[in-house]
Order: sequence, then C-alpha cells, then structure tokens
Amino acid sequence: MAEALLEVTNVSKSFGGVIANDDVSLSVPEGRIVGLIGPNGSGKTTLFNSIVGFHPIDSGSVKFEGREVSRMRVPQIARLGLLRTFQQTRVYGRMTCVQNMQISTPPREEGLRDMFAKARSGATEKAEALLEFVGLYQKRLLFAGDLSFGQQKLLEFAMALMNEPKLLLLDEPTAGINPTLINGIIDRLKRANADLGVTLLIIEHNMRAIMNLAEHIYCLAHGQLLAQGPPAEIKDNQRVIDAYLGAH
Ligand code: ADP
Ligand code: MG
Repeated sequence: MAEALLEVTNVSKSFGGVIANDDVSLSVPEGRIVGLIGPNGSGKTTLFNSIVGFHPIDSGSVKFEGREVSRMRVPQIARLGLLRTFQQTRVYGRMTCVQNMQISTPPREEGLRDMFAKARSGATEKAEALLEFVGLYQKRLLFAGDLSFGQQKLLEFAMALMNEPKLLLLDEPTAGINPTLINGIIDRLKRANADLGVTLLIIEHNMRAIMNLAEHIYCLAHGQLLAQGPPAEIKDNQRVIDAYLGAH
C-alpha cells in the first residue's frame, strides 16, 4: 500500500495532568477527505495543533509525505504544504477581503515590510480567482470585519488556499454558520478536493455535514481513538453513539 500523505502514529500530548491525546494514530491518504469527530474536549483540536507544529508532542510520530515533521515548527511545516484553519476565524477585520488574501501567501521568515510589499505587488489575480471560487468575489473590496461569520469562514478558507496546500486541516468549518450557508461550504470543500486537488482532514460537529463529506471517519473520546471507518459504519457504531450521549 502506498504511504499516506499524513501518518500520525501513537501521538500523546498532555497539559499538566490532562491527557489531551493518548496514543492516537490516524492516516490520511492523498486526495481524500477524512473526518475527525468526537465530543467536546475529546482532543480533536489538540491533535491538529500537534500535527501542524503548534506545540511539541510528548511522544509518537507525525509524518507528512513520509518525512518526520513532529519536531518542526508551524512555518516550516506550512512551507511543506500542510496548513490548518481555526475554530474561531482569524481574518483581519480592518483589511479588505483582497488584502487579507494578498498577505496570505506562504509564510517565510520575513518582516512586515516584505508582507506589505507582497500585498502591493501582486497575487491579486490569484486572490480574486479564489474569492470567486468561494463565492466572495462581489464582496472583495469590503472589510473582512463587515462580512457575516459564515462569509469570514469562507474567506479564511480562501486565504488558506492562497498557499496551495497539499493537505488542509479544517477545524469545524460549519460551526456557528447559518444553515442556509452550510451546503455552500460543504460544496466548496468538495470542490477544493476534487478540482484543486487539496487533501482534507476535517473536524466537524455537524454529523450530517461530515457524513456527506468524508470517505473515512475517525472518532476520538477522552483523548483516545474510539472508532474509525466509513461514515455509514460510524453512524451506527454503538461506542460512538454512547460517547456522544455520555457527553451531554
Ligand atoms: P476538542 O477540540 O475535541 O473539543 P481539545 O483538544 O480542545 O478538545 O481539548 C482536549 C482537552 O485538552 C480538554 O480537556 C482541554 O481542556 C485540554 N486542553 C487543550 N488545550 C489546552 C491547553 N493549551 N492547556 C491546557 N489544557 C488544554
Ligand atoms: Mg476543538
């Protein structure tokens, strides 16, 4: 079998006495959409932080394209083509959509001067094409802070695509979004995968959304991997159902 694009093996991470990830393994094959679910506090975001180099892991291995990245930091990993978005959006509210896009090209060790030079100089065509892709072209000259929350999520998604990631980790892309916009987001995620060739690992609370998106789903509970399988199996998995019921 070909090696996965992302291979997480036996990753553990504690914060003081809290074991947020306990011996977690998962793999994401190139070109696929994989889901990560689990009740609140089960360690999903922590696993994303571990994968992208936001904090060091206690033990285990994270391989991206076969290369160990668990001792690398965020910018270095991002340059390899592995990026994430956040549960809370992180756009610059007092900059326009286009400006947000222009400064979102690959992170390098550069100062603000370089960033602004880049913003002036170009990347505008690509920025506008991707804003069109997520349905925000008409809003391109508005301040990001004046967009609805769902539109800000789409902008953040487009900003990540500016980097042409090979693998994009999305933390709850439909959370807090008006139900009428959710289908639009699902559709954009699918097209980013099918048309732009971006492999996706998605944390999602909306079961209908993740069942629709992912070909394979991992479920965490109390920091441990509880189950994995195709959506239809996960939906009827008694351990998964119990974990969610137990969480409420
Ligand atoms: P999820 O994303 O599944 O809701 P998290 O990964 O955010 O879960 O959290 C898993 C556990 O780790 C929780 O108990 C949370 O309180 C704890 N945790 C996460 N990040 C930190 C941190 N930086 N410091 C201390 N505890 C943390
Ligand atoms: Mg989380």
